[in-house]
Amino acid sequence: MKGTVLYGPRDVRFEEREDPKILKPTDAIIKVSATCVCGSDLWPYRGFNPITQPTPMGHEYCGIVEEVGSDVKSVKPGQFVLGSFFVSDNTCPHCQLGYQSSCQNRELIPGAQAPYLRVPLADGTLVATPDIPSDALIPSLLALSDVMGTGWFAADAAEVKPGKTAVVVGDGAVGLLGVLSAKQMGAERIIAMSRHESRTKLAREYGATDIVTERGDAGVARIKELTNGIGVDSVLECVGTQESMMQAIRSTRPGGYIGYVGVPHGVELNGQQLFFAHVHLHGGPAPVRRYLPDLIKLVWNGKIAPGKVFDQTLPLDQVAEGYRAMDERRAIKTLLKP
Ligand SMILES: [Zn+2]
Ligand SMILES: [Zn+2]
Repeated sequence: MKGTVLYGPRDVRFEEREDPKILKPTDAIIKVSATCVCGSDLWPYRGFNPITQPTPMGHEYCGIVEEVGSDVKSVKPGQFVLGSFFVSDNTCPHCQLGYQSSCQNRELIPGAQAPYLRVPLADGTLVATPDIPSDALIPSLLALSDVMGTGWFAADAAEVKPGKTAVVVGDGAVGLLGVLSAKQMGAERIIAMSRHESRTKLAREYGATDIVTERGDAGVARIKELTNGIGVDSVLECVGTQESMMQAIRSTRPGGYIGYVGVPHGVELNGQQLFFAHVHLHGGPAPVRRYLPDLIKLVWNGKIAPGKVFDQTLPLDQVAEGYRAMDERRAIKTLLKP
């Protein structure tokens, strides 16, 4: 088969790779129905993370089970499944407590931007949908594999509750789905920080009540102005830079909560500033697996449509254009069809 391989900054190739095979009795092979480019794929693409060897790309996926190892019990060939970007056994103490992305046996899904994918620990990782979905549902199911689960974790970690006020820092796919999550969790006021027209429009559609275009000191001042000088109950930090993290901390009221899910790049927190900010911080790689059964139900029943973040769809062999479009912010998120 052919799959996606990153060779260095802005050098994505779609080239011959070995067909995935069952290596352990706990593996499954799935025929990928849809995959996509992640915001986090852009870090190595832009050269922020050095590429030391050609690296198969992609960790978001859904598709039909093709084959399972002899120990796999919970999924079988022919079922439509999806799973998190981290595989997990779903049985160790961390998994039992809902932190599957810290599983003692976790591995990152490698090379999902391909027609076939090997998923280790299939029983703990994959969740089957009630039936084979219609084509129209596939983008929303694919979004659960990472971005929707991550936005949901940001809102959950930020303790969004009915009647609360939330700020979402970041207008990428995760931030937009953070808005959707905060709305689902009952936030009364959702302030999205965005200055990009098409993203602002989707943020409003997903439930944003206010848009703040300012950043830095001006952004903080605007949030304070909107909240009688107090700051907000919950902040969803969905970027991972020093600027966005400080935006989050400074926008939160004393006693408020920050859910941070942007993979940090160059973030350094000042102890004194943190101490006097009086905020709760909870974040990390989202335990997407914990939320999958509930999120699948919400998508299946038409309650949420996270797939709207895919504003570009390409055949998988044009994956390099997908990376370019997201890098240049011409696309929010690119869906790839094998
Ligand atoms: Zn991702
Ligand atoms: Zn585990």
